[in-house]
Amino acid sequence: MAKKTVADIDAKGKKVLMRVDFNVPQDDEGNITSDDRIVKALPTIKNVLDRGGALILMSHLGRPEGARDEAYTLKPVAERLSQLLGKKVIFANDTIGPDAKSKVKALKSGDVLLLENLRFNKEEVIKDKDAKDKPDLRTAKDNFAKELAAMADVYVDDAFGTAHRDNASMLTVPAVMQGKPRVIGFLIEKELKFLGDTINNPVRPFVAILGGAKVSDKIGVIESLINKVNRIVIGGAMAYTFLKARGKAVGDSRCEDNFMDKAGELLDRAAQLNCEVLLPPDNAVVRKLQPGAEHRIAVGDIDPGWQAVDIGPMAAREFTAKIVDAKTIVWNGPMGVFEIPPFDKGTKAVAQAVAKATQKGAKSIVGGGDSASAIEQLGLQDKISHISTGGGASLEFLEGKKFKAIDILDEK
Ligand code: ADP
Ligand code: MG
Repeated sequence: MAKKTVADIDAKGKKVLMRVDFNVPQDDEGNITSDDRIVKALPTIKNVLDRGGALILMSHLGRPEGARDEAYTLKPVAERLSQLLGKKVIFANDTIGPDAKSKVKALKSGDVLLLENLRFNKEEVIKDKDAKDKPDLRTAKDNFAKELAAMADVYVDDAFGTAHRDNASMLTVPAVMQGKPRVIGFLIEKELKFLGDTINNPVRPFVAILGGAKVSDKIGVIESLINKVNRIVIGGAMAYTFLKARGKAVGDSRCEDNFMDKAGELLDRAAQLNCEVLLPPDNAVVRKLQPGAEHRIAVGDIDPGWQAVDIGPMAAREFTAKIVDAKTIVWNGPMGVFEIPPFDKGTKAVAQAVAKATQKGAKSIVGGGDSASAIEQLGLQDKISHISTGGGASLEFLEGKKFKAIDILDEK
């Protein structure tokens, strides 16, 4: 069922409380190194302001310990947003405190206010499951949400990156605001449409590319995709758990021994389902992982004392051949330690294959924080159909999980 969007609300003269994902990366001095997340929220923000709404924006930034911490203030974000919008952004020095309250009260049509980091209030991240048997926690979370909810006439959620969480601002606030309009923004609308259409109505061949650090993080994704795709290409550290499950020696490569049985089962199940699985036939290996490390290519078994840090050239060629003719591609997880060249070669080869397939008409989706930054590092972001803004959220979407925070919002 389709959700109502911000386009369906009457904004004029209304106070609109909008959850955004302004969790931007910053350098050691607090300078914003990418304003991508702010830019992606602009269409929804402008829509409300252009139609005469007064906007109250709320977000988290980083992982402060539930109390004020200057390293995580959203003040620089307010400044950048102000530059991007070409208008003043009012900033509240607290979230539900006196400064926020008086500034919310004074808001006029077309004004925009950003509240201070939600996570300066520990109530924001109380999990519903932890609050279940602890009435104090439940009350604290509810009270925090009620204070936020009382600020506005309308609730908008455009924070796809946190859509899989049950944070107070994501789930409790809209629950409290029942009876008032509660809708999604354009960014979430686009993510749901793109991810949903692609997974549910794929043009074939449908190829999944999986890599990254751990099998254990991605078991759910693999289990779900095995039923949907024609091929799975596996690289990254997770490949070595699968290779070991198939009896190969993996030397000192990262490997999760306690997931080996599961990895073997998944390979068997894929075979039954006629889903082709490709593991790297060769790998770049080092004795010690560090910049400038001497490396060699190991074909097949990896000797003790050596650790795989990237797929090898043969693997890159085989994987490329299985990707370029795809019509639908989902990619999560780099093929190697792409942060340390030359161990970005495998990831680069795969990224170029995805770009080529996309150019030939395939629909390609990249999810996962490190995968998205690998694509950016390679300058290929314009050659992919959709780079999801939600790291964990896009993974859970690929697993087929439901998002409570979105489910609760109004249907069309
Ligand atoms: P994403 O954020 O895209 O979901 P992950 O977080 O699962 O991806 O994995 C990314 C990390 O995996 C990167 O930091 C990368 O260095 C690491 N990685 C990839 N291949 C290997 C490998 N062979 N050995 C160790 N780490 C690896
Ligand atoms: Mg990651």
